[in-house]
Amino acid sequence: MSPAPFRSRRAPYFADVPDEKWNDWRWQLSKRLNTVEDFEHVLTLTEDERKALSTQGLFRVDVTPYFVSLIDPDDPHDPIRKQIIPTDCEVLPFTGMMEDSLAEDRHSPVPGLVHRYPDRVLMLVTTQCASYCRYCTRSRIVGDPSATFSRSEFEAQIEYLRRTPQVRDVLLSGGDPLTLAPKLLEELIARLREIEHIEIIRLGTRVPVFMPQRVTDELCDMLQKYHPVWMNIHVNHPNEITAELAQAADKLTRAGIPLGNQSVLLAGVNDCVHIQRKLVQDLVRIRVRPYYLYQCDLVEGAGHFRTPVAKGIEIIEGLRGHTSGYAVPTYVVDAPGGGGKIPVMPNYQISASDHKIVLRNYEGYISTYEEPLTYEPHDPKTCPYCRTRRMEPGQEGVSGLLDGVDMFIKPEGFDQLHNRGGGAHRLRDNADKWKPLGIGSGNED
Ligand SMILES: *Cc1c(COP(=O)(O)O)cnc(C)c1O
Repeated sequence: MSPAPFRSRRAPYFADVPDEKWNDWRWQLSKRLNTVEDFEHVLTLTEDERKALSTQGLFRVDVTPYFVSLIDPDDPHDPIRKQIIPTDCEVLPFTGMMEDSLAEDRHSPVPGLVHRYPDRVLMLVTTQCASYCRYCTRSRIVGDPSATFSRSEFEAQIEYLRRTPQVRDVLLSGGDPLTLAPKLLEELIARLREIEHIEIIRLGTRVPVFMPQRVTDELCDMLQKYHPVWMNIHVNHPNEITAELAQAADKLTRAGIPLGNQSVLLAGVNDCVHIQRKLVQDLVRIRVRPYYLYQCDLVEGAGHFRTPVAKGIEIIEGLRGHTSGYAVPTYVVDAPGGGGKIPVMPNYQISASDHKIVLRNYEGYISTYEEPLTYEPHDPKTCPYCRTRRMEPGQEGVSGLLDGVDMFIKPEGFDQLHNRGGGAHRLRDNADKWKPLGIGSGNED
């Protein structure tokens, strides 16, 4: 006996739509719901929702008929409803709120390209999505119909990638790359594939979740011409895992595309260990590997979705060891100001001595691991990988403290601030010989 199959749902209002239309992604896109009148065909709106939907200047609303059908129409707290139907909470400001909380604009060498990490870039190829998440981290640019794909910006992005050989991984996102016209999407991927140093291409997309009909055989045939291609989808709640999504995931994995999931920890949607456990277990059933669980960003309009970081730690505590290791995502806080993704997790190391560490497991069992008394350290001089490594100066980080010649990392202005004595009473004179990390990291050979 196999496990119970995933369900398929269609709101009664769409019952008479012929299957060939319902299963056509172009129909799904063209029949998206966005007004009070549209939604009242399928849901009983609350006063809050009605007010928000009539407010000018709110972040764009659009929902596919397929996705709106997954909502329980009579439940004002439905977890899918909260992700896509606005409420008047969106206008509330909060402490720490920012427009571009990840400082992506500052990390853009050319418009639409975010080069934050040494070897990979984020490429924003469209501002359009199949439906709009109310907590969107890029609501400053996403949804704007006037800001569509620009050929000249694309050429500038390709040109930057050509002359930046350290980039080996390009992540197509937006907006949602799978909303691009099929020909344009292929052209874009083909152009990236022509660049020799680009090893992997990734797609970040919620289209398989909002509109699984888009995952056609033609799409899969096209993508597999450009391998290695990886894909991350975005599922937040077990109710989003349907027969249609399962089929889309099956097609993509059969085409050789490894699937990951990135979800966002959202108050009132999935801020519960038991919901998360069911979510990640259902994801691995459809061969999607949970990749990241994000702390909700400090973005305008998303204040009511935020949880304490402790909630994420509690969720990881409830997953690791309790269920398949494959099903456990990495919980990350995308650091405001552009610090990037920072993993946060429960502590498993309790103590340590010279040759012993003390660890606890998920059950609270406390154990020790005896470390070797002698260890012949790895010799970088004879290791071909050590000799050929290349690292962009300044990005060695804490890892550079471990294997380089640097002894510390210090904030800018540190020396001036701590030079209050002016040097007159300096006890030791070697302070200035220590260089900030990135200047002398020991790997210049
Ligand atoms: C998330 C992200 C990436 C990819 O990060 P991974 O940890 O490799 O998945 C790349 N660039 C930017 C700007 C990102 O935000």
